[in-house]
Amino acid sequence: MSTKDNLRRAPQLELFHSSSLETRGQLHPRRNSGLTLVRPARLLDGAPPIADHVRARFPLAPRSVWEEVPDAEWNSWQWQLRHRVTTLAQLEKVVRVSGDEREAIARTQCDFSMAITPYYAALMDPEDPRCPVRLQSVPTTGELLIQPSDLEDPLGEEKDMPVPGLTHRYPDRVLFYISHNCPVYCRHCTRKRKVAKPTSAAARKQIDDGIAYIARHPEVRDVVVSGGDPLSLSDDRLDEILGRLRVIQHVEIIRLGTRNLVTLPQRITDDFVRMLRRHQPVFVNTHFNHPKECTAEAFEAARKLADAGITLGNQMVLLKGINDDPRIVKELNQKLLMMRVKPYYIYQCDLAKGISHFRTSVDKGIEIIDALRGWTSGLAVPHFVIDAPCGGGKIPVLPQYVTGREGKKLLLRNYRHQPYCYEEP
Ligand code: SF4
Repeated sequence: MSTKDNLRRAPQLELFHSSSLETRGQLHPRRNSGLTLVRPARLLDGAPPIADHVRARFPLAPRSVWEEVPDAEWNSWQWQLRHRVTTLAQLEKVVRVSGDEREAIARTQCDFSMAITPYYAALMDPEDPRCPVRLQSVPTTGELLIQPSDLEDPLGEEKDMPVPGLTHRYPDRVLFYISHNCPVYCRHCTRKRKVAKPTSAAARKQIDDGIAYIARHPEVRDVVVSGGDPLSLSDDRLDEILGRLRVIQHVEIIRLGTRNLVTLPQRITDDFVRMLRRHQPVFVNTHFNHPKECTAEAFEAARKLADAGITLGNQMVLLKGINDDPRIVKELNQKLLMMRVKPYYIYQCDLAKGISHFRTSVDKGIEIIDALRGWTSGLAVPHFVIDAPCGGGKIPVLPQYVTGREGKKLLLRNYRHQPYCYEEP
């Protein structure tokens, strides 16, 4: 009987990955591709139930060449990190490598490494180099094209650093880099200049200095903990850093920027979530770019965080050939809402060196927002922004809804391009 059949015939059951149950000692002998059927989940952890028909829209990720790997290993984030695809020979076992990819791997390895978790690699279409997951994780020769407009530090993050590893640009918040490692090195990364480079990793003193700076600046009420990916640190180390931030009386909220929900959802363990909830209020912003990334594993990672009361947001980057299509973004955002992840931003692809092949026109982003607003829930409509080059900050870009003004009359158009008039007092 298939997993779907099980769900249909026994709707009172809920699907859980064995990893989420190991720590509770609840492993069930009946196994199906990494999922364990347990009854009834709500009694195990007090978590609210999720509608079966919603959960069923999130298929399990395939296992590809790792089909025979035992669940306990596959569901271990440490195992996933130890078995990352980092060489051409390893990649050739997973996909049919194209000539362009082969050349790019040879020529980009010194500048920006390739690293792909088995979980994320298994999502790739083995035959299609245009697969959206593959394009985000396997180098192509587009990375070798450097445009005159390209910048080493496109957002001017280094120039706004009062201490190394901390950007203070906006009045009441700072960006605090605590790791330059990530499970997968995204080919469109804006911080290619330092991510994946061991020499640029945040040392203990740098983190101490960052925390000391925040403590000295009472205007900082919001700390965005980022990287690289901060979840590359151990739970204990993260706990220590978040704990030191949390005792600073003017720090009101902490945000974590992580792509682990997308590239290594196994990292969201029960222990991690328990640790994180000790530091509330905490927000987690993640980075889904395509509906193909919305698997049962990702759903489960988001569920754990949402059930712990952590607010989740998504920051998508508009990428040519990956998500520059209103239908794809609409499907992605609707799936994210089912995962309780609010679509927060769509970023215009920035001017980082070696990512020009991913850039679209700005009009494409406006077209996407126009195709969302009114046509689906407002919750599924993020802010489309250009993060201005050289440190200007995020600038929202909107379709034009105000079509004119006649005295006190504001002329408007709705999502169907029908004209309306609003008269001001
Ligand atoms: S997870 Fe973020 S920081 Fe890491 S490579 Fe991807 S985009 Fe860059």
